[in-house]
Amino acid sequence: MKITDKFKPGKTLFAFELLPPLKGDNIDTIFDTIGQLAPYNPSYINVTYHREEVKLIERPDGLLERRVVRKRPGTVGIAAAITARYGIDVAPHLICGGFSKFDIEDALIDLSFLGIDNVLALRGDNIRGERTFRPAPGGHLHACDLVSQIMNMNRGEYLDSELEHAKPTSFCIGVAGYPEKHAEAPNLAADIAHLKTKIDAGASYVVTQMFFDNAKYFAYADACRAAGITVPIVAGLKPFTTKTQLSLLPQTFGVELPDDLVRAVENCKDNAAVREVGIEWAIRQGRELIAAGVPALHFYTMGKADNVERIAKELFG
Ligand code: FAD
Repeated sequence: MKITDKFKPGKTLFAFELLPPLKGDNIDTIFDTIGQLAPYNPSYINVTYHREEVKLIERPDGLLERRVVRKRPGTVGIAAAITARYGIDVAPHLICGGFSKFDIEDALIDLSFLGIDNVLALRGDNIRGERTFRPAPGGHLHACDLVSQIMNMNRGEYLDSELEHAKPTSFCIGVAGYPEKHAEAPNLAADIAHLKTKIDAGASYVVTQMFFDNAKYFAYADACRAAGITVPIVAGLKPFTTKTQLSLLPQTFGVELPDDLVRAVENCKDNAAVREVGIEWAIRQGRELIAAGVPALHFYTMGKADNVERIAKELFG
């Protein structure tokens, strides 16, 4: 079922995001997480996609060998396994980084054959250590181009224009939005204009980057509406778990942490106490967002479900 068909005015859905396990691990950790969160009736589950990384390996002769590795493969397989085992709808992520348009078309064909109706279309981050995003040869530079490719397939237009009677796919497309602006955008207005390009290209809902101050989400939603973006805006929440996140999260995700949260975390004697602060903070955020009627809360689990379980019990139990 399409995610947008699940959104109902005044009702907030529970959704969460899973990371494929590191290469070499099995799928049990994914099933354990879903087992913990399934009692709270998740409406859908997102599965992230991880691009390749370049490693320099020292050879016995002392020369360095450049090796391309993908540490977390398996997005499509995991998405299919979740649907088969739990009957829960999934939204696998698709990224531009590292893929040509032909690779992307093949991935979309796989998803369509598996009966998966939803994708979150993203550009993906730069290769670690590179300052700017470089598309793969024959790949897309921006997420809006990926959205256009998917919409073309939804119209039965594949890259091979000689195909006759090609069957249209029927993907429901989500895209990313940044209440505190994307790191590379010159300002929030420019970033929202680029978000509008993704919506105009055919995306039908937005999932936000994590935020810790609901006022930022509400202001962003208002700015999006003022810019003519009318689609549902799903709120992304990440429960705080460690003291190091005080510097890590602002640095990695460009988010600002409210004073009260910073003080509460600084006063914790260990990370067990930080987890409790994170759970309480996310419950408070969630209650206010639900009262405001946001379409869904999307929890970034980062592969650990015990804290999200307690939050879901409080908000959706
Ligand atoms: P874009 O929409 O292409 O935007 C990137 C930058 O370019 C922005 O600054 C934007 O303002 C600008 N821009 C956009 N369009 C144009 C245009 N037409 N002309 C000029 N400038 C433009 N990353 C992963 O690798 N895997 C994942 O699974 C993943 N999941 C995510 C889930 C969510 C909910 C979010 C919020 C992010 C996720 N990311 C993931 C991270 C994401 O890939 C990065 O934030 C990436 O840097 C930007 O992706 P995007 O889709 O927002 O890109």
